[in-house]
Amino acid sequence: ETAPPLLSVENIEVVYNDVILVLRGLSLTVPKGAIVALLGANGAGKSTTLKAISGLLRTEDGAVTRGGITYDGQPIHHLDPGAIVRRGIFQVMEGRRIVADMTCLENLRLGAHTRRDREIGDDIDRVYGYFPRLRERTGLAGYLSGGEQQMLAIGRALMARPKLILMDEPSMGLSPLLVKEVFGIIRQLNAELGLTILLVEQNARMALSCASYGYIMENGKVVLDGTAEALAANEDVKEFYLGGA
Ligand code: ATP
Repeated sequence: ETAPPLLSVENIEVVYNDVILVLRGLSLTVPKGAIVALLGANGAGKSTTLKAISGLLRTEDGAVTRGGITYDGQPIHHLDPGAIVRRGIFQVMEGRRIVADMTCLENLRLGAHTRRDREIGDDIDRVYGYFPRLRERTGLAGYLSGGEQQMLAIGRALMARPKLILMDEPSMGLSPLLVKEVFGIIRQLNAELGLTILLVEQNARMALSCASYGYIMENGKVVLDGTAEALAANEDVKEFYLGGA
């Protein structure tokens, strides 16, 4: 909690197509080196929040119409997605969005395209270190299993040497075993590389087990936030997000 915030979203309002108000005064903070979970039901505005941070909102005719987003002490909400990636923020999209008709290796190289240095061999080895299975897959990425595609999507993000990764539903479509594996790797990336992670998840239990802090969104704003332990112990959270357990 004492670390300075790497990312700070302050009271933002987001509108699609000039009319539909989707975020209504959303604020959150991600300290340097932390894993922070952003939870909430379908349609609460979680993906929209990530797109507002990564600048991808404008590709869908969305806009931040109020408030601001600060990263590493600088406002970023006016920057285009490429400039935001160059600052060190990388989004792993929901549905993975790997390039199906390229190989794993080509997808990984693509992840490094914004870097100035062309010395990416060590980075590719590092990604294969985290995801050994990807090294063995020499065919087109479109033929990978769902779990392998998720790993490739994360690996591709790592190639950009990000400081902050925005992850949209890494557990989506994965078997319980693979969910465990992917979350284990997320924890490892945080611990070993000091990577800061903002994690959007439907799987609240899994997200709170690896995050230190969490925010719960409803209807475009935060309705509850606290340490992961406090949220996991909260009766309302248990009832609505942890399946009554
Ligand atoms: P999910 O888990 O289903 O992705 P979410 O919490 O991520 O939900 P968002 O995808 O951010 O929610 O969507 C929030 C609201 O914004 C929804 O009501 C959705 O219909 C609307 N919305 C999302 N994208 C657009 C868009 N491109 N144009 C108009 N409305 C949109």
